[in-house]
Amino acid sequence: MTHGHSDHTGSISAILKDHNIPVYAHSVEIPYLEGDLAYPRRKKAVSSVSKGITLPLSAGTEGELELIDGLRPYLTPGHSPGHRRSSPSRG
Ligand SMILES: [Zn+2]
Repeated sequence: MTHGHSDHTGSISAILKDHNIPVYAHSVEIPYLEGDLAYPRRKKAVSSVSKGITLPLSAGTEGELELIDGLRPYLTPGHSPGHRRSSPSRG
């Protein structure tokens, strides 16, 4: 997931009913999407994904995110605290 806003998470439970696949988000984002923290400018915390479904992206010793199937995720906070995007790896 790029982030945990409900318009990006609404189909996860339906997808997981038919597919045994991992769901990843940046570790910064997980407390927000699981409802432990309120997103900035929101009055209350709301869970958009059940606890334990989302795995944190793995990071190296300097915080760089590790490849997932050839895609390099990048932390790009702003839209949400743990927003990330991915690009094909170039080496
Ligand atoms: Zn959003």
